[in-house]
Amino acid sequence: LREKVMGARGLPVETTDGVKVDLQLNVGLNTERDWLKELDVKGVGLYRTEFTFMARDRLPTEDEQVELYGQILEQFAAGPVVMRTLDVGGDKPLPYLPIVEDNPFLGWRGIRMTLDHPEIFLVQIRAMLRASVGRNNLQILLPMITTAEEVDESARMVRQAYHEVAEEFNSDGEQRLQEPKIGVMIEVPAMIYQLHSVADKVDFFSVGTNDLTQYMLAVDRNNQRVAGLYDAYHPAVLHALQQIADRCRELNKPVSICGELAGEPGGALLLIAMGYRTLSMNSYNIDRIRWIIRHSKAADLDGLLQKALVARSPQQVRQAVTMLLEQTG
Ligand code: PEP
Ligand code: MG
Repeated sequence: LREKVMGARGLPVETTDGVKVDLQLNVGLNTERDWLKELDVKGVGLYRTEFTFMARDRLPTEDEQVELYGQILEQFAAGPVVMRTLDVGGDKPLPYLPIVEDNPFLGWRGIRMTLDHPEIFLVQIRAMLRASVGRNNLQILLPMITTAEEVDESARMVRQAYHEVAEEFNSDGEQRLQEPKIGVMIEVPAMIYQLHSVADKVDFFSVGTNDLTQYMLAVDRNNQRVAGLYDAYHPAVLHALQQIADRCRELNKPVSICGELAGEPGGALLLIAMGYRTLSMNSYNIDRIRWIIRHSKAADLDGLLQKALVARSPQQVRQAVTMLLEQTG
């Protein structure tokens, strides 16, 4: 099977009836990177910067971050590299900045923490910008956004860091540092209803289906006791994803998916039927998702999606997906 799906490397990622899909990578620690080139993927849709912070016993310095971010911008020089700002809290604590809370997933996570610590946030953004001098592929992604004010404040800080760094590198009239694109993660359900109020402040959206599922269904994504309830195939989650795709199209804003659902064969097909054209996933899912897309017909996927949206349970969705996947081989 592995050989079969690897055979699609180098071939266009499109359905049998010509719908093109852009596959991108989710990456974490540096060590994964050398063999990633072989996967035939141009861009990084999600770089989870927090792992670098978690693997140390102190905050990485600005220079250390410049070095790390530069490596990945260099390795994926041909595509966008979407770097997410520090997303700690919840299940991802920093050993040297302990957070003690009753409900960490509803607490001081992601952008909430970094907006309270501008000295950490600004250093990270400056490092990203310094690493991108002379290139044009950095995009910055903001995690756990819940309010329009958080977007305003974060965008203001990105601009501030940009002007500081640009002053240093663009001073001789040469434009060596480009202003980065800014994106917002849609992973807190409240964002679904605020897309119009933040759209003109950002360049793109990226849907985090892992947290979106957790928060829509009120199920801790790591709690084994309720793991049976945690399911991105829940029809309510699928309706939300459809609504996000529709709203982003109306607003004319690019939207991609970077949660695990994009790396599951059935999930990828449902997302394509909803209108998503950029899917970002872990390295081990790339080959099989490319293969399944190349063996699917977009027209058949619409039928699958219609069934999924009227299903009464995730199990019913899964049945419909399994039937289609069995036909595909
Ligand atoms: C998500 O929530 O779907 C996501 C991509 O981010 P993380 O899994 O790192 O929270
Ligand atoms: Mg998340």
